[in-house]
Order: sequence, then C-alpha cells, then structure tokens
Amino acid sequence: VKSSGRGGLAVHDLRGADGAADRLRLLQELRTALAEDQFRLHFQPRVRLSDGSTTGVEALVRWQHPERGLLRPEAFIEVAEASGLIREIGAWVLDGAVAQAAVWNAAGAGAQVSVNISTRQLNDPDLVLLVTSALARHGVPAAQVVLEITETALMVDPDAALVTLRALAELGMQVAVDDFGTGYASLTYLQRFPVHELKIDRSFVARVVDSASDRAIVGACVHLARSLGLVSVAEGVETREQRDALVSLGCDLAQGYLFSPPRPPGPHP
Ligand code: C2E
Ligand code: CA
Ligand code: CA
Ligand code: CA
Repeated sequence: VKSSGRGGLAVHDLRGADGAADRLRLLQELRTALAEDQFRLHFQPRVRLSDGSTTGVEALVRWQHPERGLLRPEAFIEVAEASGLIREIGAWVLDGAVAQAAVWNAAGAGAQVSVNISTRQLNDPDLVLLVTSALARHGVPAAQVVLEITETALMVDPDAALVTLRALAELGMQVAVDDFGTGYASLTYLQRFPVHELKIDRSFVARVVDSASDRAIVGACVHLARSLGLVSVAEGVETREQRDALVSLGCDLAQGYLFSPPRPPGPHP
C-alpha cells in the first residue's frame, strides 16, 4: 500500500485502487464518509442552446475528505458500485438533490434537477419507492426530477429496466439516457423505453469541431433524439466553437465548462 505520507492514500493511488488492501481501506473510509456526512453535491446548469437560458441542473456527488480535500467521483464511485455501498450513497444523493430542489422552489427559482442513477440502483427493486419517498419528504413534484441512467446500465437487463422505467414514467418522472453513444443500446429498446432525453457523451463533443466522423455521430444522435421525440443534450461543452457546431447540428441543450463548471448550490439553480 502506497501512502501519501499523511496517513491517507493519494488520489492517484485511489483511482487505481487495484490492490485488495487499498480497496478495503477505501471502502471503510466510504462507510465513515456516509456516517459522518462527508458527501457534498455540486450542481452544473443545463443550458438551452437557442437562447442560453438555464433549464435545470445536474447534481454531481463530491467527497469532502478530511485529509485529501474535495474528491471527484472517479476516485470512489467504482469501489462504491462494486461493494454495493452505492445504494446508500445514491440514496443520500437523491435525497440531497430533491431537498435542494425544494429550497430553490421555496425561493421561487424552481428548476429541473437531474440525478445520476448507477447500474446497481437501477436494478434495485426499491428504487421507485426510494424516489417517491424523497419527493414526498420534500414536497417536490415528480416532473421536476430527471434520472440519468447510462446506456450501459439500461442494457444489463433491459426487460427489468423497462418495468422500472414504466413505473417511474407513470409517476411523472423524466429519464435521460446518459453517456449515449458509448454503449450498445439497441434502437428497438430505445424506442420502447419511456425516456425523455439523450445525453451525448463528452468524448464525441470534445471532437465535434475537429473530427468529421465525431461530428457525424453527434448529428446522428441529435436526429435520432428528434425522431424519437426526445430532447438532445450535449455534455462537456468547453468552447464557443463546440457550441456553434452543436447549434448548427440542431442540438437542444448543453452542459459544460463554457457555461459553468459544477458548483456548490447557490441561491439560484
Ligand atoms: P457524467 O454523468 O457523464 O457527468 C459529467 C462529468 O463531466 C462530470 O464529472 C462533470 O463535472 C464533467 N464535466 C462537466 N462539464 C465538463 C466540461 O466542459 N469538460 C470536462 N472535461 N468535463 C466536464 P464528475 O462530476 O467528475 O462526474 C463523473 C462521473 O461520475 C459522472 O459522469 C457520473 O457517471 C458519475 N457520478 C457523478 N455523480 C454521481 C452520483 O451522484 N451518482 C452516481 N451513481 N454517479 C455519479
Ligand atoms: Ca450524468
Ligand atoms: Ca453523462
Ligand atoms: Ca459522460
């Protein structure tokens, strides 16, 4: 086990976390983090490309580690998912995101809040109950919450996912297909799933200006979204050139450092 010299593991060690001892230690620290309320939520706006208005925010989890500072999910999500602890972290995230939506609502600044749902959460039979109880607890309407589910997670057990998505849709919840283009979602399923948006992965957006083939992929995703009646969202927009390319391809919404990085919650979404 490599040590950072302050009694903790350096971030670059955690990212790999290959050794069983490293993973075990990280898992123990994650349990402490839950018990001692060390997780935080940052929010990143989603912007309508036609007029620049903010239509909502995505909640992104952070870990305020007592020694290592603010950690991004890449440092711990994988171990959380593998161990099953993601269910508890995910429940915390869901409650926190809905609570924040209620705070903004009370301030007259209501907006849609998108929450990332992991594979394990999607396949948890209690997911629908978890979401509905968070909404009821904070008095937030279902239509205000978007659940972001990766293309890959949807295809683990598409028939089970379909049942869950139908239950969520029945309650008025919106669902986004996250990291679209990186997995292998069958178009047949995509058409059957009650989903509302396609989030085009950052890897394509990053090359939308320089690579004709990436531009073609993004264009195809936008067209597919439109023909299925879904909203298209581009992730990771960093430059005006990328934004302009997305506008000319007809993409609906965008998120990225060009507009704002994820930030701690402020008085407005
Ligand atoms: P994602 O859902 O694809 O989220 C987008 C990631 O891109 C976020 O990284 C965000 O900070 C980053 N990003 C946003 N704009 C830009 C940009 O312009 N350029 C670049 N280079 N990056 C940008 P983050 O917050 O580190 O999250 C990484 C991943 O961790 C997320 O990817 C998501 O899969 C997962 N994640 C985050 N929060 C949660 C959570 O609460 N629950 C679960 N299950 N997963 C989460
Ligand atoms: Ca996401
Ligand atoms: Ca994504
Ligand atoms: Ca992504």
